Amino acid sequence: MKPGILVIDVINDFVSGALGSERAATIVPNISMLLDHARGIGMPVIYITDSHLPGVDREFDVWPRHAEKGSEGAQVVDAIRPKDGDHHLLKRRYSCFYATGLDALLRELGVDTLLLTGLVTNICIQHTAADAFFRGYRIIIPRDCVEAPSDETQETSLNYMVEMYRAEVSTLEKILRENLLKEGTA
Ligand code: ZN
Repeated sequence: MKPGILVIDVINDFVSGALGSERAATIVPNISMLLDHARGIGMPVIYITDSHLPGVDREFDVWPRHAEKGSEGAQVVDAIRPKDGDHHLLKRRYSCFYATGLDALLRELGVDTLLLTGLVTNICIQHTAADAFFRGYRIIIPRDCVEAPSDETQETSLNYMVEMYRAEVSTLEKILRENLLKEGTA
């Protein structure tokens, strides 16, 4: 397998801002460790973040305004800002595959396995997992690198992705210990 990491919506508005929470903040150090590991072995790192157009995006019919294009709230949190060599795509829907060019980028990078990290488990992570499954990608989710508004929501969503998309739910510790991401293994 050739894995790549998606870092989804770890932005100011979802961690400390308009729609932020302590639960969301807990995953940031874990993602940081995973990213250090990934960059160390040359694994592609792809950030994808909300960048909404006020007055246009229908998501604001559902949610309070957040992550408006170009705003501070739409920026990746300082602790895990993208580094040279990382990729960064913008999205306007829950799914990272919708009108972002992600699929083409992954194919150009040769990535066939997606490590999903970020926010929020039952919304953008789950919609992205669906589209990843439809396109034939293997899905791995370190459970301590994704977060939802409650334990129950988190577990329900993870179970759904296991059942429907054969997502492999793991942990940061297990991934690092077993070196699961080494290219060509598993
Ligand atoms: Zn949004």
